[in-house]
Amino acid sequence: MQIEDFPLQSLMEITGRPPLVFVAGEGSWLEDHAGRRYLDFVQGWAVNCLGHSPRVIREALAAQAARLVNCSPAYYNAPSARLAALIARASGLGRVFFANSGAEANEGAIKLARKWGTLHRAGAYEIVTFEGAFHGRTLATMSASGKAGWDRLFEPKVPGFPKARLNDLGSVERLVNERTVAVMIEPIQGEAGVLPADPQFLRALRALTRERGILLILDEIQTGIGRTGTLFGFEQAGVAPDIMTLGKGLGGGVPLAALVAAEAVSCFAHGDQGGTFNGNPLMTAVGCAVIETLVAPGFLERVRATGSRLRERLAALSARRGLGEVRGAGLLLALELGRDAGAAVVEAARDRGLLINSPRPGCLRFMPALTVTEAEIDRMIGILEEAIAAV
Ligand SMILES: *Cc1c(COP(=O)(O)O)cnc(C)c1O
Repeated sequence: MQIEDFPLQSLMEITGRPPLVFVAGEGSWLEDHAGRRYLDFVQGWAVNCLGHSPRVIREALAAQAARLVNCSPAYYNAPSARLAALIARASGLGRVFFANSGAEANEGAIKLARKWGTLHRAGAYEIVTFEGAFHGRTLATMSASGKAGWDRLFEPKVPGFPKARLNDLGSVERLVNERTVAVMIEPIQGEAGVLPADPQFLRALRALTRERGILLILDEIQTGIGRTGTLFGFEQAGVAPDIMTLGKGLGGGVPLAALVAAEAVSCFAHGDQGGTFNGNPLMTAVGCAVIETLVAPGFLERVRATGSRLRERLAALSARRGLGEVRGAGLLLALELGRDAGAAVVEAARDRGLLINSPRPGCLRFMPALTVTEAEIDRMIGILEEAIAAV
């Protein structure tokens, strides 16, 4: 088919998109309207953790669609209970509320923290967040985010999100006062360019929040669900949050997110939280298939092994080409280019059949399927090197 065969002009223009229409996908590969294949190291922004249209997700969708698609969150359904139990057991946190996007899960985390502040901290409501943070695109989660340029968008913002600096404990301590109810942080700032919070910093935040009697909220929407080589990013720092949010990989490509909280913090009263599609059986059945796949013996070990392989190959490429740092964890990695060539490299790579992403002008981000093979990693490095040489 030709690009002109698709009525693209009726779609709202929200970002510059390449003149391609993707029509099919399998594993690490996507196919466009003209039948051209692309090696996909974006995977819907770290969403398709098992790659494109994996058998376990197709089967979970088909089986659940044939049984029950939706019944309303005002009634219990079996897959949502099963998935909540899987997440509770794996995380050590007692209660789960399902949402349809990461932003909605974070909205829920903000509401839950404010409710807890009303009940237990004399109405404290401020949540300390971080410069460069990304928590979503609703008004409250944009307000919580520290993305450059967002401070002046869609004013007035939701108040109550003072910004500290990542890995700077003093900057957090200076913002904590009697109005503070929580500190909210991503274990690795993904959208900011894969900037890890130091494990010591996360441990210091846990100690500080305990000492001051406030909550620690981890936004694991990008780092969770095996992306960094453990089921949750926080396991690597040995820090247990009071509240955690999940999204992206949780649904393996379908819209599914979760607000997860310790029993003692789960203080919503009836009517405080809800939503028409929340916890619907079709999406949560997929979530069960994803988690069961990830916790099967050997799966996460393999993610750690392929993650090391990708990191080594990127570091070798960087050394050959005189580029910058490789950072991140597991299969969430970034390469510094040393100059603002990110967009040009992304385009040159796409022309050569490789999809990658540049979250910041000087850096590239890699978030392949957790099932990516070593051969696909090697192939990616070959195309990437050609693209960098051409720019
Ligand atoms: C993607 C992302 C979000 C927002 O999730 P959506 O599903 O796009 O609303 C929030 N926090 C982090 C860390 C993310 O990476």
